[in-house]
Formats: sequence, C-alpha cells, structure tokens
Amino acid sequence: MNVLVINAGSSSLKYQLIDLSTQEVYAKGNCERIGIEGSFLTHSEHGGETQRTPVPFPTHREASEYVLELITNLGHTIDGIGHRVVQGGWYFPESAVVDDEVLAKVREVAPLAPLHNYVEADVIEAMRKAMPEVGNVVVCDTSFHYHMPETSWRYALPRDVVDRLHIRKYGAHGTSHRFIWRATREFTHGETKKLISLHLGSGSSLCAIEDGRSMDTTMGLTPLDGLIMGTRTGTVDPATVFYLQRVGNYTVDEVDTMMNKQSGLLALSGISSDTRDIEDGAAKGDEHCIIALEMFGYRTAQLTLEMAQAMEGFDTMAFSAGIGENSPLCREKICERLAWQGVRIDKEKNAVRSGEVRDITGEGSKVRVLVVPTNEELMIAYDVQELLG
Ligand code: AMP
Repeated sequence: MNVLVINAGSSSLKYQLIDLSTQEVYAKGNCERIGIEGSFLTHSEHGGETQRTPVPFPTHREASEYVLELITNLGHTIDGIGHRVVQGGWYFPESAVVDDEVLAKVREVAPLAPLHNYVEADVIEAMRKAMPEVGNVVVCDTSFHYHMPETSWRYALPRDVVDRLHIRKYGAHGTSHRFIWRATREFTHGETKKLISLHLGSGSSLCAIEDGRSMDTTMGLTPLDGLIMGTRTGTVDPATVFYLQRVGNYTVDEVDTMMNKQSGLLALSGISSDTRDIEDGAAKGDEHCIIALEMFGYRTAQLTLEMAQAMEGFDTMAFSAGIGENSPLCREKICERLAWQGVRIDKEKNAVRSGEVRDITGEGSKVRVLVVPTNEELMIAYDVQELLG
C-alpha cells in the first residue's frame, strides 16, 4: 500500500510517499514559505539528492495541489492519504477516516491551534476534491493523550469554565510518542513497561507511557507548557502573564509572541534557539550558553521525575527528535542529573552517531537508556493502512 503523508504547518507543507510493504520512501519534500514572498519547494526521490526550486505557493491549498500533481506524475499509485492534524481537541481519541463531519470537527477545534488546524482542514478538503476515489485519514497529535488519567489532564479551574471552553491538558507530539513506544518495545522485545519518552527538538515534550497508554505529558492546553524549548518558555508561573500586561504594559499578543517566539533557549543563550550553536558557545566559555544548557538539563531531568510519578517508576528512557537523537552532550547533561535515581549512560555508546535505535545504558544503571529516532510519517502511514487497508 502506498500512502501519501501530508504534514501542513503554519507556513510549510511537508509530504512523503511511503510504500508500506517495504517502508521505502518514494518521494519526500517540503513546500516552504507558503503565503510569503520567495516560496520554494525542496523535493527528493528514492533517497536521492534534494532539489530546491522556486515555486509560487500563495496558499496551502495550492501547495497541496502542486504536490499531488508532482507525486501523481511519478507514476506510483496513491492508495490513501494521511494528514497530520495538530489539535484534535475533544473529538479525536484516535485517528479517523475523513468524511464531512470529521472535517467540520477539525475546523471546530481550530481555535485551540489556529495557525495549524485551519490550513490542515483546507488541505484535506483540497485532497478530497482532487482525488475523490482515495480515502483520507486524520491523525491528531493529541489523540494519544486523550485517555490520560483525569488526575493528569484536568486543570484545577472552575468546572463551568473548563466545561464551556473545553480546557484540559491536550498535550502534543502524540504521534511521535506513540511511535517511540512502539519502536522501544520492539527493540526491548516487550520488556519495557514504564517508558519516559523524551521528544526533544525545537519543540520538546516528555510522555509517561505505561503499557502503551499515555499517563501524563508535559505539554498542556497548548504546546507552550513544560520543558524549555528553542523559543518557548515552557512552564512559568501563570501570573507572569498578568504581570507582563499590568506592569510591563505588554498586550496579550505581545506576551503571546514573547513566550512562544522570543523565549526559551534563544532568550537564555542570547544567541540562538539551536542547541548546536549553544553547544559551540558553551565550549568557548560563553556564560549564557553554559547556563542555557544547564537549565535545559535540569528542567528535563526534573520533569522526567514528574512523569515518572504518573507511573510510580520507570524502567526505560528513550531520547528522540533533533536534540534527543543528535546531541550526546544534552543526553549526558540530563542523565547526570538523574544519577541519584540510578540512571547511568555509557560515554562511548552515547558518543556514537547513527540513525538506528541504540542502547546507551551504562554499567550498573537501574534504568535502560535508549536513543530512538522518531518517524511520525511512518506512524501516520500505519494508521492509514489500519483504517483504509
Ligand atoms: P526537530 O524539531 O526535532 O527537527 O529538532 C531540531 C533541533 O534539533 C535543532 O533546532 C537543534 O536544536 C537540534 N539539533 C539537531 N542536530 C543537532 C546536533 N547535532 N547537536 C545538537 N543539537 C542538534
């Protein structure tokens, strides 16, 4: 079965055509700067070189139609289309085959993720029109966390307000955490029972997964909560928001931009949101970069234990995403702080770079420590196969 996976972001549209019988990726690419001057396409086929071409993409709809034509011209069939949807809100406990009702629900919950859900809905609509004979499936980032225990998802706000506005911990990165669980279990031959999944990238979240169920996660109503991220604050005292408005005279929108786009590692280091730059800075003795890395390690270790509480223990940690997969230094900083909990990593194994699942556990560790490259696209394709195949 060939599945076209589409991941529409606020100004981009990533795609992959995956043959699930072999897991081969026939083609993949990204339409970038959609709706912005200078939009372009990066595209590669069969793992070959990536070509960059300037293409006008006024809207996501047009970008998706362009991609569909490009893929169709390759001569492969498209047997199903999987769409990553950032926010499933209170509707999607699991992935769903698209019909009019599903599409309406994606739009209804869009106020919780306005930059994503509206364009995702537009793209789904465009695909249904262009290929009415092919089924579409929505795979929501929030679904995996839908069945968390109430003690994890409920906020201690007035019930009428919470009910009217559908306020709860929705979490994010659910498709990635689900994939990490699956890959970890496969690697440990089913031995892992209580996993801390660490998706550490430009956006980061942790998830406590017990026997395949999300028990808690660090992102909240929105992906601003939890860990320190590239440009996001992570958790701060909510009263900081009132204080910034009342005393700092910032508007709501300014606070929103500050906390989402001007904070996190970027603000701490003063130079970059990218851990590669910060690690370089720290190596040269830049004090702001040093504290940025220390705080990232501290907060991640701290929240790892918060997640562990949801399962009353943990037997495996799995590092994933841009930082988790590629930064031995960040992994070391986190695990060092968990040494008192019996976490040990092997320095040599930790230094190895590879695209495979690997074990970096050190001697005498009470917890197994893995690096698990995530693959959200493959997870989405599996869901399409399950629902349409
Ligand atoms: P993601 O959002 O999962 O694509 O992760 C992107 C982030 O991963 C980048 O912004 C970097 O902070 C981080 N990253 C990628 N490669 C490395 C590396 N080799 N060393 C340290 N950090 C890395």
